[in-house]
Amino acid sequence: MLRRGSALSGHAIICGAGIGGLSAALALHARGWSVQVIEQAEELREVGAGLQLSPNACKVLQALDVLPELDALSFAPQALEMRLGRSGQSIFRIALQAPAAARWNAPYLHLHRADLLQVLTQSLMIRVPGALRLNARLEQLKHSASGVEVKLSCGQRLHGDLLIGADGIHSRVREILFGPDRPRFTGHVAWRAVAPVEALGQHRPPPSACVWTGPQRHAVTYRLRGGALANFVGVIEQAHWERESWHEQGPREQVLADFAGWHPIVTRLIESAAVHHRWALFDRPPLTSWQHRHCVLLGDACHPMLPFMAQGAAMAIEDAWALASSLDAAAQISPALARYESWRKPRTSRVQAASRANAKVFHRPAPAYWPLWLLARLWPDFFHRRQDWLYAYDVTDPTSENT
Ligand code: FAD
Repeated sequence: MLRRGSALSGHAIICGAGIGGLSAALALHARGWSVQVIEQAEELREVGAGLQLSPNACKVLQALDVLPELDALSFAPQALEMRLGRSGQSIFRIALQAPAAARWNAPYLHLHRADLLQVLTQSLMIRVPGALRLNARLEQLKHSASGVEVKLSCGQRLHGDLLIGADGIHSRVREILFGPDRPRFTGHVAWRAVAPVEALGQHRPPPSACVWTGPQRHAVTYRLRGGALANFVGVIEQAHWERESWHEQGPREQVLADFAGWHPIVTRLIESAAVHHRWALFDRPPLTSWQHRHCVLLGDACHPMLPFMAQGAAMAIEDAWALASSLDAAAQISPALARYESWRKPRTSRVQAASRANAKVFHRPAPAYWPLWLLARLWPDFFHRRQDWLYAYDVTDPTSENT
């Protein structure tokens, strides 16, 4: 039942218990909504991989009151570095932790995805017992006079005042609302792996977010879980791919062949990882609309992006916060959803474009990096300034999202 008082509230069905869906459940619950998260998976099982959470995302997680638990599980990188992939020669190294606190008012953290999902899930279970329902796949939806009716694959029907499609790049909610479309292969394939730092001997990755560059490929190394684990992401350009999946694995020999001749910090990490996951990276052209009547999309469901700005999860977390803020300030659902879309689209489109542009920055031959090397020495503040629009996100002012 929809309630209109000083703030709008009611019952929200959230499709998808990923980072975006769980953040939305916490944000809406904090504003007086009753929430039900439906997740198709039988259990919440996350493949081993790391995630960078920049200050803009951390500010929202702080507002959702989950940051202290995450702090204990994370690793705070000292710097952002770029190195040449083969020689390891430094192109630039800029401080990250001190400016994150002083300039952007929140930490920059590295986390295991499983740890982030677990903290978000547990916080929801404690605050709203029974809010998460597993093995519940949204199959169909129908608009009703008072809201929306959802049909699950088991045949059960649920009714809500609001439906949030936080169901990822293959979003069923998006397909029902706006028709089928095919994801677009971006010509990039990403390897992901983790290894215990103690297995790496003298070839431990630096305590930074380190991008290793090379022609047609790059790698990113960083540490997780207080520094005990090392994370590897390796991206190569490839002409074709058949399907997008979060669970595909590949042989260690193939990853080593892709990064043959690279610095031992990179190759030792690949050798020491037990499992090597492989993702083909897809995106979609921007959607004309993210919302219809009492249904709305967030996260990868509406703006999937290449991971080259490390912002996909961060944007889903910001979306969740902005959606709850917009509903809080509204008298009716539909205008609030339209306003949320107008706040979020310019910013997420800009991040999508910047992520695509970074593919070109990271995949050049060594001599192309000399201007960057020179710039870093002459004007170190340049890199911090360039991140201001992204990291200086203000949770108290959702319109700042358009900056
Ligand atoms: P998802 O995480 O995809 O969650 C969707 C959920 O919906 C899933 O649990 C799914 O099972 C469920 N679902 C789907 N359909 C249905 C249905 N019909 N019914 C019920 N449930 C359903 N981002 C960062 O911010 N920092 C990084 O460092 C970073 N690194 C990355 C590195 C790589 C290689 C890749 C590929 C991505 C990276 N990202 C990063 C991006 C980030 O992982 C994604 O943007 C983020 O996970 C999207 O979250 P989401 O909640 O929108 O969707």
